[in-house]
Amino acid sequence: MRLRNKPWAEDKLLECPQYVVHEPEQQRGKWSEVFAVEQPLHIEIGTGKGRFITEMAKANPNVNYIGIELQKSVIVSALDRLIEAELPNCKLMNVDAAELGKYFAPGDVDRVYLNFSDPWPKTRHEKRRLTYKSFLAVYEEILGKKGEIHFKTDNQGLFEYSLMSFSQYGLLLKFVSLDLHQSDYEGNIMTEYEEKFSSRGNRIYRCEVQYQN
Ligand code: SAM
Repeated sequence: MRLRNKPWAEDKLLECPQYVVHEPEQQRGKWSEVFAVEQPLHIEIGTGKGRFITEMAKANPNVNYIGIELQKSVIVSALDRLIEAELPNCKLMNVDAAELGKYFAPGDVDRVYLNFSDPWPKTRHEKRRLTYKSFLAVYEEILGKKGEIHFKTDNQGLFEYSLMSFSQYGLLLKFVSLDLHQSDYEGNIMTEYEEKFSSRGNRIYRCEVQYQN
């Protein structure tokens, strides 16, 4: 993603504590305090400009959502969407996914979404891929029993790598589509990247995997 310098982004995030969780370590083990209703919590890692997470929150009011994004200059666009939509069941966090264990206790999270994660194609960057085994260990730590990861991408190399990584980690493969938009999968909510790459004719890959604990 091309990043524009937005020096005002930090202030804007600070001005909206109703949508942005600023001290997430304080909520560890008590996320229900943050939302109007206590219900399952699904998180999207690398939420980008927030289309997926806000549309999911609109479509599923019986689920709480948190969009997690590393870049302030990107997450402010997600914040604009949230402000406009006024959703009580959706929040944002500007943190690194590698540190999620500091913010979520075991079982705080019910599902992890990874959408169009950066592919990091060079072997020497493997550890940065959000489906690398160290990240799978972080997700395992915060998810409840039989927690799931739902992953989609247009990058065939990253998809193949991730299926291998999931399988080597011992995750159960519950659903795989090698061409999501031509499949009978219903209720797909497109991300910004999905819209962009599928409009160029790229195929979209999707899978759902489950921890066996
Ligand atoms: N999910 C969005 C979509 O499909 O339109 C954005 C995809 S973009 C390629 C990947 C996003 O993941 C970027 O905004 C990047 O900053 C974010 N990201 C990458 N590594 C991350 C990490 N360790 N923690 C949180 N966000 C991360």
